[in-house]
Amino acid sequence: MMTHAAYDCDVLVIGGGIVGLSTAYAITRTAPGTRVTVLEKEWGPARHQTGRNSGVIHSGIYYRPGSLKARYAVRGAAEMVDFCAEHSIPHAVTGKLIVATERSELPRLHALVQRGRNHGLPVRELGPAQIAEYEPQVRGLAAIRVGTTGVCDFKAVTERFAAEVRGAGGLIRFGAEVTAIDRRPWGVAVRTADGRVVRARVLVNCAGLQCDRVALLAGDDPGMRIVPFRGEYYELARPELVRGLVYPVPDPAFPFLGVHLT
Ligand SMILES: Cc1cc2nc3c(=O)[nH]c(=O)nc-3n(C[C@H](O)[C@H](O)[C@H](O)COP(=O)(O)OP(=O)(O)OC[C@H]3O[C@@H](n4cnc5c(N)ncnc54)[C@H](O)[C@@H]3O)c2cc1C
Repeated sequence: MMTHAAYDCDVLVIGGGIVGLSTAYAITRTAPGTRVTVLEKEWGPARHQTGRNSGVIHSGIYYRPGSLKARYAVRGAAEMVDFCAEHSIPHAVTGKLIVATERSELPRLHALVQRGRNHGLPVRELGPAQIAEYEPQVRGLAAIRVGTTGVCDFKAVTERFAAEVRGAGGLIRFGAEVTAIDRRPWGVAVRTADGRVVRARVLVNCAGLQCDRVALLAGDDPGMRIVPFRGEYYELARPELVRGLVYPVPDPAFPFLGVHLT
């Protein structure tokens, strides 16, 4: 049986993106005294998805009412705004328009109105003239405006989490790629590329788009593989013409296609 002193930490988090560092932050706040270590292979936080996304604080409107995703997204959006305000992190609650440009999209738009109201979100239905009032450059048959959608600087949020974790006595190691995970009866022994070993009671895999690989290193078969694909972002020549976020009604056949005009 290993003693407390024989462990390097209680909880070892792999990944220094927003999920890994918010996990470490939450542990240090809810269980003070827990020894937390974060291992991140890059030389700083938020170098992958977290620092390369659209910066949208999603309202949760698309998720099935009662689902965990819906609960976390609706509550998380409000908490994210509070966190940014408390730590002076750039953010804005711009609201978002979801626009139907074809008649066939109207039933899905109306279903979203209902869903938004079930979530308790501030949702307003707009006709063509009201769409133009919000966004003069946007045309549509109908739209809904969701008041709680916003934007923020997720990299700055993650850097703040890192500072809070360190302030609470947590250890964050950058340039520490996990290359081997050995499960033991007492916990895990994790090896990094530089040959160092960290022993922990508990391991949390927050490796983002490589979490399937980390799961395999730990001897777990996640039953899926993450397949990367290329995407494109466009910057508007005159961004001052758009005041908020504008999305098309999501198409169930292509749920990932969208336009963010921020
Ligand atoms: C193009 C795009 C746009 C998006 N837009 C939004 C948006 O507007 N709003 C929103 O809420 N979400 C958005 N998302 C989703 C959001 O960015 C992700 O859900 C979030 O950043 C995931 O955070 P993460 O910490 O899990 O992953 P990541 O930020 O990818 O962090 C994972 C970390 O794990 C590290 N790692 C991996 N393997 C190892 C290893 N073996 N050893 C040590 N470290 C390792 C990586 O280096 C990385 O830093 C978007 C995603 C993408 C791709």
